[in-house]
Amino acid sequence: MSEPAAGSDVAGIKTVARKDGDDYVINGQKTFITNGTRADFITLLAKTNPEAGAHGCSFFLVPTKTKGFTVSKALKKIGNKSSDTAELFFEDMRIPARYRLGEENMGFMYLMQNFQTERLIASASAVAGGFYMIEDAMAYGRERSAFGKPIIKREVWQHKFVDLLTRLESARAYVYMTVDRYNEEKHVKKGPLSMETVKHISMCKILVGDLASEVTDTCLQFHGGWGYIEDFPIARAWRDQRLFRIGGGTTETMKYYVAKILGM
Ligand SMILES: Cc1cc2nc3c(=O)[nH]c(=O)nc-3n(C[C@H](O)[C@H](O)[C@H](O)COP(=O)(O)OP(=O)(O)OC[C@H]3O[C@@H](n4cnc5c(N)ncnc54)[C@H](O)[C@@H]3O)c2cc1C
Repeated sequence: MSEPAAGSDVAGIKTVARKDGDDYVINGQKTFITNGTRADFITLLAKTNPEAGAHGCSFFLVPTKTKGFTVSKALKKIGNKSSDTAELFFEDMRIPARYRLGEENMGFMYLMQNFQTERLIASASAVAGGFYMIEDAMAYGRERSAFGKPIIKREVWQHKFVDLLTRLESARAYVYMTVDRYNEEKHVKKGPLSMETVKHISMCKILVGDLASEVTDTCLQFHGGWGYIEDFPIARAWRDQRLFRIGGGTTETMKYYVAKILGM
């Protein structure tokens, strides 16, 4: 999906798939594509009707061995280093029309539906990661002493952790409630998600994103200098969790969509 000049504003993508007989010919560029350097296939969003904005996008399943496909570079990231992130180019890349996924010009709608799953999974994993990092910090604080007693015995830290755990519990309950709504609509009623559910999913991502940053930053500080050293899991968690407020739709974009749903 993402391109150098269009990330949050997906409808602004420039990659074009032009119909040519029984094929599509695709020209354009993508960036930030997770696992893009080693994928055998990619799901590609391109404009099939460039004049129609969001209503002119379609999805394609593209084998990466197709002529005209190149990986131009692997981007260097500050975190999440166990997956690669690539820039991709498509130059007169010809694929059979049957490689199109779903209806022509319905890609944006599919994308928005798929985003909801991604955002909900990310919210659940960020809540779990938050609990894990606090548990890890508390264990560290029992072992590490300063001024004659374990640092976990300092009320200033106890209150911080209790406060964060209280908010994590609330966030977990909210994510679970939203998962129930999602399952009911998607798997029981088997329909598209309602705007009410989309609103809650966006709100989960807003809430959990800020909370995850606060949790990991507090845990890092609690480790003192060791929090800044790679030997401890908090260093990696602090870097990795930062993506949560950006990937799959930024916190600001979530707020933009919620405001729209609320009719502001
Ligand atoms: C490690 C990593 C992996 C990724 N993996 C993928 C992938 O596999 N596939 C893929 O397609 N994309 C992927 N992305 C891209 C990611 O989805 C985008 O970076 C993200 O959606 C933001 O788009 P952008 O970077 O173009 O920022 P922009 O859209 O340029 O946003 C810049 C700033 O403007 C703000 N902004 C934008 N719109 C509004 C608004 N309406 N109101 C207020 N503020 C606004 C944003 O919040 C942000 O702070 C990945 C990104 C990273 C960093």
